[in-house]
Amino acid sequence: METDNVTVAVLRGECVDCSRDFVSYALPDLSYGYKLLQFVNDGSVAAVLRCLDNPVVYELLDIVAKVAGNKADVNVAVGICCDPINGKSMGVGLSPKCPACGSSNVDEFDSQPSQMAVLELPHVTHELWERQSREGREQAVRRCYGA
Ligand SMILES: [Zn+2]
Repeated sequence: METDNVTVAVLRGECVDCSRDFVSYALPDLSYGYKLLQFVNDGSVAAVLRCLDNPVVYELLDIVAKVAGNKADVNVAVGICCDPINGKSMGVGLSPKCPACGSSNVDEFDSQPSQMAVLELPHVTHELWERQSREGREQAVRRCYGA
């Protein structure tokens, strides 16, 4: 599997339910045009999607605007155009889950002083999405918005 080295900001996570501290990650503020993908099952970091110059993402934006309107939150649908990694689906803007109790009721704080890390993350592919017809893609997006 191809990988990308991605620079991320290190965050401190804290579980509201059991008070466990853990490490979490986010894209640095300057990462315009990239989205951090997380695994749906546990909210952990999965990969980084390059959106600029990515025709798959542009088509997705077009479909989202068509089926859900220009003001729809595109993060809801981004995961569906990405192939699962190790069989696990991904999404954007998910809460990380507490490694101790599994709760998604967590707070995240910037590290003080701020801290960066380089993660080796799998390259995002879109093969399953590209195999679908335009109609199939529109249906998949519609399901994301319950439309
Ligand atoms: Zn917990």
